[in-house]
Formats: sequence, structure tokens, C-alpha cells
Amino acid sequence: MSLEPGRSLWDSGGMTIPIIIDGHAIEAPDGASLIQAWIAAGLPLTENVGCMGQGVCGACRVLVRREGERIAAAALACETRAEAGMQVAFIDHFPARRPHAYDLDAMGDSWSALGQVDAVFPEAKHCRHCGGCDAACPKGIEVQKAVNLAVEGRALAAGALFDHCVMCNLCVAACPEHIAPSHLGQFLRRMANSLTLRPGDLIERIRQIENGSQAIDLDAPGAQP
Ligand code: SF4
Ligand code: SF4
Repeated sequence: MSLEPGRSLWDSGGMTIPIIIDGHAIEAPDGASLIQAWIAAGLPLTENVGCMGQGVCGACRVLVRREGERIAAAALACETRAEAGMQVAFIDHFPARRPHAYDLDAMGDSWSALGQVDAVFPEAKHCRHCGGCDAACPKGIEVQKAVNLAVEGRALAAGALFDHCVMCNLCVAACPEHIAPSHLGQFLRRMANSLTLRPGDLIERIRQIENGSQAIDLDAPGAQP
């Protein structure tokens, strides 16, 4: 998406901050996030966009190098405010190197299902404890710990550590053993929910939809892609 020429996202009182995003020198409105700065500059945003600022989709992956720092860090553009002298580069989407096929309905009860972690993710036991996944994660998840808990057979505890994962896949890019930690986490969370009671907030929301107190507008833009 792009803004009409001359139209800004908001009135920042005229204060701007010089940053560089994907090679474009931009004057970002004071207080803007990196993704807001990009849009305010009138540049087209056709990729790396999903939830538009809620920090839940993981699409706006960026590498950020702050002024005076040598090391670039991974971040989400919607959750990172522009700072003077920042250099930013969006990171493309990249899938895991191989798909992990599984059938939750065929895994049986929790006694047998927990043994499936090694069958589906045999590479997880090769974790070399490098900490690359932890350093890459913009959500501060203890990814390495979660991977190793899963290997130890503590699948539910491991899955819980991935609760705030947004599937940005930065840990996938960081892992030298091609473990695809986020996909392991997704598998663990799916397994946990298929073997235990559904989350209370999910049940409550479905009830609200069914009794009409949570209206669903099927004619809303984008509701019927
Ligand atoms: S665990 Fe991986 S995919 Fe999930 S938020 Fe962290 S880096 Fe992104
Ligand atoms: S990046 Fe891969 S090998 Fe390194 S600690 Fe994380 S899961 Fe283990």
C-alpha cells in the first residue's frame, strides 16, 4: 500500500528523524515505528506486511543497525521505533527447508503422542546450543531452551514457551542445524491443544459468535477473499 503524494500518516509536530530503510534516506515522523516511517515516506509496501502494527503476524522482519553499533539485530518493523541514524533492511519471507508432515488425529493419546516429537523433528536433538535462535527472536522467546525441553520429552513445557511466537521464522534463518524451531513450536502447541482441553478464551469466543454477541460481518472488505 502507499499514501497519496503529500499525505502524511499523522501530525508529528514537524519533528523528523533521518533513517535509511532499504537504501532509501527517509525523514521519519518523530515517534513513528519503522513500518509507519516507510508508509509516511510514500514508499510502496507490497511485502513484509500483515497485521499492520499489532506485532502478531511476524511479516515485517527487519535487520536494524543503530548508529554507532557494528552488529545488526533482528526486529519487527511494527514494534521498533525509528531512531536517528538507524539503518534498516527488510528481510524476505523464507520457508523451512523441509516440510514436517504429521497427523494429530493419528497420534493417539498423550502417552504415545509425546514420543512423536523425535519422529517428526529428528533434527532437534542435534541442537548445538549456539544461542543463534535466542539472539534472532524479536519476541524474546527462550527458543533454545524450548527446543531442548522438547528433545528431553517435556513437550508441553516446550510448547508453552512458544506461546508468543509470531512465526516470523527468524529463528529458522539463524539455526545452523536447520531445526526450524518455530515449526517445532507450532507442532508442539497444536499437539498440546489436540490432547488437552481447548483454551478458555477460544471456547468463550466461539460461544459469543454462536449466541450473536460477537457479530461477524461476512460482507466486510476482505472477509470473503
Ligand atoms: S520463536 Fe522464531 S518464529 Fe517465533 S517469534 Fe521467535 S524468532 Fe520468530
Ligand atoms: S539456533 Fe539451532 S542449533 Fe543454535 S541453539 Fe537454536 S536450535 Fe540450537
